Amino acid sequence: MTTKRDYYEILGVSRNASKEEIKKAYRKMALKYHPDKNPGDKEAEEKFKEAAEAYEVLSDDNKRARYDQFGHAGMGSSAGGGFSHDWTIEDIFSQFGDIFGGHFGSFGGFGGFGGGRSSRRTNRGSDLRVKVKLSLSDIANGVEKKIKVNKYVTCKTCGGTGAENSSSYSTCSTCRGSGYVTRVTNTLLGQMQSTSPCPTCNGEGKVITNKCSACGGEGVVRGEEIITVKIPAGVAEGMQLNVQGKGNAARRGGVSGDLLVMIEEEKHPQLIRDGNDLIYKLNISIPDAILGAPVEIPTVDGKVKIKIEPGTQPGKILRLRGKGLPEVNGYNRGDLLVAVNVYIPKNLSRDEKAVFEKLAKSPNFKPNPNETSNFFERMRGFFE
Ligand SMILES: [Zn+2]
Ligand SMILES: [Zn+2]
Repeated sequence: MTTKRDYYEILGVSRNASKEEIKKAYRKMALKYHPDKNPGDKEAEEKFKEAAEAYEVLSDDNKRARYDQFGHAGMGSSAGGGFSHDWTIEDIFSQFGDIFGGHFGSFGGFGGFGGGRSSRRTNRGSDLRVKVKLSLSDIANGVEKKIKVNKYVTCKTCGGTGAENSSSYSTCSTCRGSGYVTRVTNTLLGQMQSTSPCPTCNGEGKVITNKCSACGGEGVVRGEEIITVKIPAGVAEGMQLNVQGKGNAARRGGVSGDLLVMIEEEKHPQLIRDGNDLIYKLNISIPDAILGAPVEIPTVDGKVKIKIEPGTQPGKILRLRGKGLPEVNGYNRGDLLVAVNVYIPKNLSRDEKAVFEKLAKSPNFKPNPNETSNFFERMRGFFE
C-alpha cells in the first residue's frame, strides 16, 4: 500500500472548508486533470482519481467526520464503507458527473473512455404483451398454446431492407459513406471531439433513394403471426414468459422484439390453489363421517376415489401426496389437501328427529372435550 495524501491537501482546501468550497475545489481539480485534457497522461489520471476519492469522502458529512477523527485508517471497508475499491474513470463520472453541470453529463461518451459504443445503431422492434388464460389442468401438465398476434412483420417484398431493389441506394451525403459524424464542441475543457453514428443514414453509410412500395421504406408491415408458446407445468398467475424474437419486427433489418406472455389462471370450480398444493373442501354426511364411506375427489387429472375412515372428524385434512401441481422446472409436486366438513342438516322429519333424540342419550355421542381443540387446530387456515 502506498501512503495516502491528506484529502484536504489534495483538494487544496483548509480543514474547516465549507461544503461549497470543497465542491468548488474538486471541480477545479477535476477539470484540470480531466482525462480528455490530458490524453495518455498517467499522472494526471491518478490525480483525477485522487481528487474524486477526496471529494467522495469530504462531501459526505459522515465520512468527513470519520476522516477528521481517524484519518485514512477510518476509511477502510471495515470501518463501514469508505473508499474501499479502486475507482475507474467511469465510476467517477457516474458518481460525480453532475459536478460538471448538465453540460458534461450529456456527453455520454467522453471521447476516449466511453467504451462499448458501436458505430452503428441497431434497430430493435418493440416487445409485445399478450395474456393467456390457463386452466389448472393446463398448469398441472404444461401446455402448448397457439396465440394469434397482430404485429409488425418483416416486409416480404423487400425482405426488410426497405429498398425497392439492390440499386435503390446512394452514398449518404451527411457522412460521405463512413457511417459516422464527428462533432467538435466547445466546452469548459476547450474543444472536444465526439464521434457518433450518422443520424441521416443511421450509421449505414448509404441511404435508400427508391423506397420499397409495399412498406414505404420501413422494412416492416402490419400483419399477424400465429405463435406457438410452450408453457411449462407449474406456472402461476402473474408470471411472464419471454419468447425471444417474437415481438414486433424491427425497421429495416434490425432485431425483433420479444413476445411477453402473461399467465392468467382460470378459477377451478372445485379446487383452490395454494402454491403448489391444491385444496378441496369435502362435505360428507353425518352417517358417512360415523360409518366411513368411499368418496370421489376431483383432481386436475380427473376424479379419484378415496375412503373416508369410520369416525372421521370435521376439519380432518387428508393429504393426497403428489396430486397437487408441479414446481416450475422442478421435480417436486404439491399435494391435494382434502379438508373434510360434516354436513349438518337443518330440516329433519319427525322420525329422523326421534332417532337423534334417542342417540343424544347414548354416552358414545357425548363429545370428548380434548378433541375440540384439535378440531380448531386443524381448521385453521382452511375455512375463513
Ligand atoms: Zn450517413
Ligand atoms: Zn418493403
